[in-house]
Amino acid sequence: MKRVLVTGGSRGIGAATVKAFAEKGHRVAFIYHTNHAAATRVAAETGALPFSCDLADTAALDAVWPQIVAALGGAPEILVNNAGVSDTRLSRDVDDATWQRLLNTNLTAAFALCRLAQVSMIANGWGRIVNIGSMWGKVGASMEVAYSAAKAGLRGLTMALAKELGPSGITVNCVEPGVIQTDMNSCYDEATLAALADETPLCRLGTPEDVAAAVAFLASNEAAFITGQCLGVDGGFAI
Ligand code: NDP
Repeated sequence: MKRVLVTGGSRGIGAATVKAFAEKGHRVAFIYHTNHAAATRVAAETGALPFSCDLADTAALDAVWPQIVAALGGAPEILVNNAGVSDTRLSRDVDDATWQRLLNTNLTAAFALCRLAQVSMIANGWGRIVNIGSMWGKVGASMEVAYSAAKAGLRGLTMALAKELGPSGITVNCVEPGVIQTDMNSCYDEATLAALADETPLCRLGTPEDVAAAVAFLASNEAAFITGQCLGVDGGFAI
């Protein structure tokens, strides 16, 4: 049994990840933003402990961290930086506030949590960090420049931290989903989603469970010799 923290655990990929860890008998806490109803549902289904916090605000994160550690009975041994937000517009229309919100939520919060969580991981000589990037961080998405830049930043964060923390028994990896059926893609109509499935070599959209399975594997003992990797879970979309 390990102590696990998943960010963005109230919906989509994060909720599936919370369930996957809870089913394996781990003690799980998760952070969400404002969707209390969804968070309550996930908590009731899994027994995981929900914490509301705006991850775009590192002061808020610093304030909630001791509460999470106390509720879990110790600092997380497995950290999944999954929370994210996307934004679609021409790059010339990306204002400073939007750029900052995208960078803060997708990248800076992940770094801040790695900084907090590594202290006890180093002391214990064991830890697992899994960052949820995106295939757009690898190949770039038109009209998603802030999102693509933040997710590309997670690649660098993953590789650098893997080198720094490897000697302390901590692995750091990144999972890069393709098009996954979650609220994040609810802006697309049926025809667009069908076209995206067509573009995917495996001929379908991904499910949150497809991604959660990869996260659970990277956090397992079977993945003990894997670090600094960016694993596409995209049905082959970004080959
Ligand atoms: P969803 O939009 O379904 O869920 C987002 C989750 O993040 C929710 O739990 C939400 O909380 C939380 N969240 C968002 N902003 C904040 C914030 N400021 N502070 C705290 N929590 C926040 O996302 P997905 O499940 O689709 O995506 C999960 C991850 O996977 C993201 O990093 C995303 O970029 C990545 N990804 C997703 C893809 C897809 O096709 N869906 C493709 C590639 C990558 P609340 O419920 O309270 O709003």
